[in-house]
Amino acid sequence: MNIIATPSSTKEILDRFGFSFKKKFGQNFLIDENVVRKIVRISGVTVDDTVLEIGPGIGTMTQILAEEAGNVLAVEIDTKLIPVLEFTLADCPNVTVINNDILKCKLKELSDSYNSEKPFKVVANLPYYITTPIIMGLLEENAVQNKKLLSSITVMIQKEVAERITAKPGTKEYGVLSLAVEYYTKPSFLMNVPANVFMPRPGVDSAVIGLEILKEPPVDVKDEKKLFRLIKAAFAQRRKTFINSVSGVLNVDKSVLRDALAAIDRGESVRGEVLTLEEFAKLSDFI
Ligand code: SAM
Repeated sequence: MNIIATPSSTKEILDRFGFSFKKKFGQNFLIDENVVRKIVRISGVTVDDTVLEIGPGIGTMTQILAEEAGNVLAVEIDTKLIPVLEFTLADCPNVTVINNDILKCKLKELSDSYNSEKPFKVVANLPYYITTPIIMGLLEENAVQNKKLLSSITVMIQKEVAERITAKPGTKEYGVLSLAVEYYTKPSFLMNVPANVFMPRPGVDSAVIGLEILKEPPVDVKDEKKLFRLIKAAFAQRRKTFINSVSGVLNVDKSVLRDALAAIDRGESVRGEVLTLEEFAKLSDFI
């Protein structure tokens, strides 16, 4: 098979199978070989790795991943794309395609049936309509499974979400998602991707992020669930102070919150958006 990531190859494949894009599945296929190769390169995938690709589409990135990785397991929801993938990836014996919804797949089951003992490296151009549930689903299940199933995630997502995930305290993008991802990974913003390398062009800007899975959380906290309840409560009303937002949502006495803030040397007018993950962990243990 020729390189799929070009406008002419992509059109030819779509015509051959009479395929039309489905907006509801977030189908925007890459048509630039350099961009695809760059994403695969920065993912750091080698022949020792098994890659989990979410949403292979017509196999654009799968084809390049198959060159670099030991094995590729690709999960695609759209049944119409399965015969297309059989055709485009016929020369790639190290690729297995599964027709399923990634949100209904258990990472543990994928790992047990298709992988050796090695953790997956996830590499994907994600369907943007479910970016957050996919990323959080993978991170939470990996945490429950003793962090053995994943080693890294390199994904193209909507730029605005990439900025929220990699945001630092005190910025307007910083929030629950930044803190949740920071609890499980070391995130980095890797590159911007222009809309003209997709067919059809998405209506939003895109970017690639990398998430290196941590073996241990970066902070010590007694009750993880309580920590996340506190973080959500602190950002429930962004414009309010930490005390007003949390006391309203969690029904905690304001004096307890005042004492907790004093214990970490923060004044009572502080807002959630400036607090670090470490500070949230200390507050959670105190309250
Ligand atoms: N990887 C291809 C590329 O880069 O050209 C396609 C990427 S396209 C942005 C997203 C792909 O994810 C589509 O093929 C779409 O059908 C698939 N998809 C959407 N929702 C999915 C889900 N819940 N589970 C698995 N795949 C899904």
